[in-house]
Amino acid sequence: MRVNAYAAPAAGQPLALTTIERRDVGPNDVLIEIEYAGICHSDIHTVNGDWGPQPFPVVPGHEIVGIVTEAGSAVTRHRVGDRVGVGCMVNSCGECANCQAGDEQYCVKGMVPTYAGTDRDGTTTQGGYSTHVVVDADYVLSVPESLDAAAAAPLLCAGITTYSPLKHWNAGPGKKVAVVGFGGLGHVGVKIAHALGAEVTVLSQSLRKKDDGLRLGADHYHATSDPKTFEDLKGTFDLILNTVSAPLDFAAFLSLLRTDGAMVNVGLPEEPVQIVLQSLFGNRRSVSSSSIGGIPETQEMLDFCAAHGLGAEIELIGASEINDAYERVLSSDVRYRFVIDTATI
Ligand code: NAP
Ligand code: ZN
Repeated sequence: MRVNAYAAPAAGQPLALTTIERRDVGPNDVLIEIEYAGICHSDIHTVNGDWGPQPFPVVPGHEIVGIVTEAGSAVTRHRVGDRVGVGCMVNSCGECANCQAGDEQYCVKGMVPTYAGTDRDGTTTQGGYSTHVVVDADYVLSVPESLDAAAAAPLLCAGITTYSPLKHWNAGPGKKVAVVGFGGLGHVGVKIAHALGAEVTVLSQSLRKKDDGLRLGADHYHATSDPKTFEDLKGTFDLILNTVSAPLDFAAFLSLLRTDGAMVNVGLPEEPVQIVLQSLFGNRRSVSSSSIGGIPETQEMLDFCAAHGLGAEIELIGASEINDAYERVLSSDVRYRFVIDTATI
């Protein structure tokens, strides 16, 4: 079927209305009428070519919430009328050790990203800035009824990308967690880390968003533009979750870790990042990174957010505002996730 979508025609070009083809619903597929699609900074990196050449035209969007309107004959997980979500991946081999362990994002054959990827049938995937999408039901999540559908959309990427490392590195009672960058990922990370019981500090470029940070679950909020922050907080944190989309002074941030502390980087700047070994070894510190999360853990995260009444703080926009929203994300002027009302596409 042909459906409306917003696509970037070429690298760095504004997104514009177009139509794209969605495949027929196969036995294990569902057709989803999309209600909401979040704007992730990864969408912007991709269409701006920060991460290399892309198969343009690209329809971004991997924070998708909608309603199942058709289900293939073999689908048992989802039924017509269910509210569902799709995150950053729509397929994987399903057979390798990582897929079997529920870490499909680390599929040894490579997971299929929701847009600008090659699906297993050879077609190029197109994302959620669209009215409909057809997805293999095994990669479709159930969105709990108690969650607000628009505020739940960003959980499909920002939620799982922060939940997964927070859980893996044991954020919880007695742990001091710093979240660097208070944007889309950062603000959801703060909410989740707080709900997990950790003592949460925001490290933002300025104190401009301090009131919001404290209201949304942070215990402390510091400006990284103030050199005193790095003096005062030296050796403090068990875990630093870095959500910043640009390179940082890594040595300075690593000095904030206590012995055995870890800095986990989920932000993906375009330039290669250099880490200085000497910043680590005096205190057995470690540096790591993390990519989204697997399907079972994404469902666990959605259920956790429902249990804790958590969603993103969103600004709902019409499709014609997408290009302006991109500009605002790039200037760190997002409060705190733009979500597209896809009925306007
Ligand atoms: P975002 O909403 O733009 O938030 C990023 C925040 O980083 C900004 O709000 C700002 O926070 C801070 N920041 C921006 N530029 C900075 C600079 N030059 N120096 C210091 N801080 C700066 O972006 P997002 O959607 O949360 O995504 C963040 C990053 O995560 C992107 O690189 C994205 O591609 C990546 N990502 C990774 C995964 C994964 O699986 N690992 C998944 C999704 C996204 P303050 O104003 O508070 O300083
Ligand atoms: Zn994303």
